[in-house]
Amino acid sequence: MIIVMQHGATPEQIAEVTDRLEQDGFKIHLSEGVEKTIIGAVGDKSRLDAMSLEAYPAVEKVIPVLKPYKLAGREFHPHDTVINVGNLTIGGDTLQVMAGPCAVESRDQILQTARAVKAAGATILRGGAFKPRTSPYAFQGLEEEGLKLLAEAREETGLLIITEVVDPRDVTLVASYADILQIGARNMQNFLLLREVAKLSKPVMLKRGPSATFEEWIMAAEYIMAGGNYDVMFCERGIRTFENYTRNTLDLSAVPVLKSLSHLPVVVDPSHGTGRWDLVQPMSRAAVAAGADALIIEVHPEPAKAMSDGPQSLTPDNFTSLMADLRQIVQVTGRSLA
Ligand code: PEP
Ligand code: MN
Repeated sequence: MIIVMQHGATPEQIAEVTDRLEQDGFKIHLSEGVEKTIIGAVGDKSRLDAMSLEAYPAVEKVIPVLKPYKLAGREFHPHDTVINVGNLTIGGDTLQVMAGPCAVESRDQILQTARAVKAAGATILRGGAFKPRTSPYAFQGLEEEGLKLLAEAREETGLLIITEVVDPRDVTLVASYADILQIGARNMQNFLLLREVAKLSKPVMLKRGPSATFEEWIMAAEYIMAGGNYDVMFCERGIRTFENYTRNTLDLSAVPVLKSLSHLPVVVDPSHGTGRWDLVQPMSRAAVAAGADALIIEVHPEPAKAMSDGPQSLTPDNFTSLMADLRQIVQVTGRSLA
């Protein structure tokens, strides 16, 4: 619910309204503009009808906000959010590219990949230390040892680190190594995990659940923001459809849709989105043209020997040519590559 105060409403009149709302259990987000003050009220909408807020002379109008996401939505926050992480920004005029293996497998593998993606122009190193796998018998990741190797790669290359956390009990541990925490597709609605990362002061990349609607996805972001962490970015990684030629169906409409519904940055993952290395370059081009703020791409020194997601991983050479290509595309969109 948005309450627009009359031009010239006094602080006392504004306080009268916010006090009343707070008494009725609403959480207040005050936006004091030069011209007008706007009160955002988060709470039980059904109570508002009985409150007759428009009876206060200083209230100009009460706008029911039908969209249930007040913090992640654009309505109350019209400007794009730009997330600062290390010396980088995600969501501004610069396209960031995150790249690295699906999983951290060994010291050699992660350092070799980190050097290659850095040389090609990536700014953030990806790599899973805790791997959510469809089969309980598949490689589950190196866990803390993997986090240490990522930190070593950061130390050497200056790349920032993004890595996934799968268990609420590991959030503090993962946050002590990572620059950005990734919530995987399978955990998009793991509300306990969302509440834990909400307590951090580190950015969170929230992947789309394989069958999640936009509203469910944005509500998951709302969980993190409602818990106090406003540095949230979305990541489209493909959804489940009838088509099985590709691993998932990369829904690039997510970029403009999210940009219109939300102010948060949008990342695209063409690797999981297609499951095929040969489709990563064309879909990366399309994602940048659609307005993605960042890409996350799987790169492995020897995809054929990867312990997970080899078929969708680029070789360092292919990643280098992709970056050269993106440099041109991003320019056409009026932005630049970091
Ligand atoms: C990953 O990024 O390696 C991963 C497991 O992705 P998703 O959660 O999108 O399947
Ligand atoms: Mn993967």
